[in-house]
Amino acid sequence: MEGKKKIIVLLSGGMDSSTLLWLAKKEFDEVYAISFDYGQRHKVELKYAKEIAQLAGVKKHFIVQIPHYREIKGSALIDETVEVPSGEYPENEPPITTVPMRNLTFLSIASAFADAYEIPYIGIGVHALDVPYPDCRPEFIAAAEAAINAGSVYVAKTKNRMHIYAPFLGMSKTDIALLGLKLGVPYEKTYSCYKGTEPPCGECPTCIQREEALREAKKLLKEGG
Ligand SMILES: [Zn+2]
Repeated sequence: MEGKKKIIVLLSGGMDSSTLLWLAKKEFDEVYAISFDYGQRHKVELKYAKEIAQLAGVKKHFIVQIPHYREIKGSALIDETVEVPSGEYPENEPPITTVPMRNLTFLSIASAFADAYEIPYIGIGVHALDVPYPDCRPEFIAAAEAAINAGSVYVAKTKNRMHIYAPFLGMSKTDIALLGLKLGVPYEKTYSCYKGTEPPCGECPTCIQREEALREAKKLLKEGG
């Protein structure tokens, strides 16, 4: 490929997207990051995202306002009247922390930046444990990639393809943590809690997953994984 290999990474400031950012730094020549202020209860994550982007030395970090989510009720992440549950995710249904079409919204905005800046890769940190969220499934990612290619000026002009880079799709959270520890991701500077408290609550689904994954990964690393 001529020129530099470029990627824009969706960065929440949490564990998965920060690991993806560090992986992207290794695999790509020029790394951009994009974060979203969508009225999330845990808006404090943006502060962490900014610091992580800076530590990673990204070429540019875009922070985009998405106002319409404030009008949508019923998700614990954006509706102040709905409580963030404690304990693990429910087994067979989308959790109350689902934000409708969040990844479609994020990817469509990121793809606009990618198109304008001629960045052929869009990185997203969805993984195997995200499956309760419909817009984290492989079939969604494939469909989104097809839509982006069909609508891209960059693709029409250059005949190149746009790609959604989702290397964690088949990975567990522990796999991601293990990779991140090896890559030297500063996890103490990342933030995952849905409740948005500092320090993190330690009991919401994402706090539980994160702690489990880090504990397991550190154990595996010690054993020589
Ligand atoms: Zn929490």
